[in-house]
Amino acid sequence: MRPIPRSSRFANGGVSFWFRDGGLPERRAPLPGGADYDVCVVGAGYTGLWTAYYLKKDQPDLRVAVLEREFAGFGASGRNGGWLSADFSGSREDYARSHGKAAMVALQRALMATVDEVVTVAGAEGIDADIVKGGMRLVAANAAQHERLERQIEYLQEWGYWPDDIHMVGPDHEPRLSVNGAVASGYSPHAARVHPAKLVTGLAGVVEAMGVEIFEDTAVTEIRPRSGSERPAVVTEHGTVHADHVVRATEGFTSTLRGQRRRWRPMYSSMIVTEPISAELWEGIGWEGREVLGDTAHSYIYAQRTADDRIAIGGRSGPQRIGFSEDNEGATQPQAIAELWRSLTRMFPDLVDVPIEHAWSGVLGVPRDWSPTVNLDAESGLGWAGGYAGSGVATSNLAGRTLRDLVLGRSTDLTRLPWVGHEVRGWEPEPLRWMGTQVVRGLYRTADRRESRTEGKGHTSRLADLATRMPGN
Ligand SMILES: Cc1cc2nc3c(=O)[nH]c(=O)nc-3n(C[C@H](O)[C@H](O)[C@H](O)COP(=O)(O)OP(=O)(O)OC[C@H]3O[C@@H](n4cnc5c(N)ncnc54)[C@H](O)[C@@H]3O)c2cc1C
Repeated sequence: MRPIPRSSRFANGGVSFWFRDGGLPERRAPLPGGADYDVCVVGAGYTGLWTAYYLKKDQPDLRVAVLEREFAGFGASGRNGGWLSADFSGSREDYARSHGKAAMVALQRALMATVDEVVTVAGAEGIDADIVKGGMRLVAANAAQHERLERQIEYLQEWGYWPDDIHMVGPDHEPRLSVNGAVASGYSPHAARVHPAKLVTGLAGVVEAMGVEIFEDTAVTEIRPRSGSERPAVVTEHGTVHADHVVRATEGFTSTLRGQRRRWRPMYSSMIVTEPISAELWEGIGWEGREVLGDTAHSYIYAQRTADDRIAIGGRSGPQRIGFSEDNEGATQPQAIAELWRSLTRMFPDLVDVPIEHAWSGVLGVPRDWSPTVNLDAESGLGWAGGYAGSGVATSNLAGRTLRDLVLGRSTDLTRLPWVGHEVRGWEPEPLRWMGTQVVRGLYRTADRRESRTEGKGHTSRLADLATRMPGN
């Protein structure tokens, strides 16, 4: 295999490439000691910060604190692929079973509107996150993927996307984006490219300026429910915070909290980014529209053209780890880098000599049914949101607005959405769940290889069907 060209500035980890230019943010002071708030949020990613933002915006007198183990944006919110999209990982049929189909359609429509909500709020609050709403392009690289893409689009059109919201496009679709080997493409206008770290650090600054207190370097060791006259409490090494409501916004890290070990499986996703690409090479590719780009392989990738003209591409490449890994600096495995580079150069062969400048990984949270949730238990005073399973950039904003309404005791269109209160059983213990993941990934990879060899009319490989039917997938 051809060696992967690496930049002389190549780095692996360091949280993520997105912090590279500005450097890791200076940390805010930790919690100074025991304290009392109306609402205490644990975790300063998008979920926690959007929740704090909407609460404070609605009720400026509310005393809100955010406690963060590292710094705002340290988790997936500062590492992701920057797809601000209406993508939703949950089972539409399950939500429809409990709430009716119209409620699921309303959730999908709400997610599309959320893309615009984030773009609008970022603009209004002066958060410069390199946002371009160019939509989403999905490409199929063989006949089986083509068939799957068409089926997926038809399916989505039954569940809240109207034909204008997602459809197939021809090879002459403008603005041009030339992906080598693409036999078919789909397009949705409901997506924007963002710079993830600028969004999360900008949001933290806005929230703080509104009067929310953010304490960093403050690890929460326990969250206690209301008990008799004892209010809910958040225990940290620096003291205990009492509050009327506590919101857990720790997504992929949730399994490290007491009593939450099997709730959401920590799953790792990796990314690489190229050096800035020359104007000459961009001429061949196009991509003037800055759409976010994905494919329809079972081991799918997600990509964006960055504001400084690189390509950042990610996927669930490389071996998954058993349980939660404390390797928090975000280094990824050589195998993940190699797989992502192969995907990049398969799609854009002219980039074979463009060096890779940075590689990293991050952790996201996956419920056993892959269906995210927003919840507030009135009795215990505890709320939570997450389990976005890799589609959390927009979803976390919708979750934040919903948590606002739940905490303020309102019954609204948001609190009636079918993911509110959704519960599912926990995962099997390790190493069982890890073994299951390895089997599923192996089947998908073999299915991708087989599908890439079929000519003419293609169908999804039976191995992929088998993987999809496996429990917990
Ligand atoms: C590599 C990668 C690429 C992705 N790409 C996309 C994408 O393109 N589009 C998309 O929609 N989604 C994407 N996702 C998923 C998306 O980034 C997440 O769903 C979203 O950021 C979750 O936000 P969050 O605030 O819930 O969690 P996080 O951003 O993970 O925040 C949780 C915070 O809690 C803190 N914390 C954890 N434990 C404690 C504790 N004990 N005490 C105090 N604080 C604690 C953490 O330090 C962290 O800052 C991607 C994820 C990864 C990892």
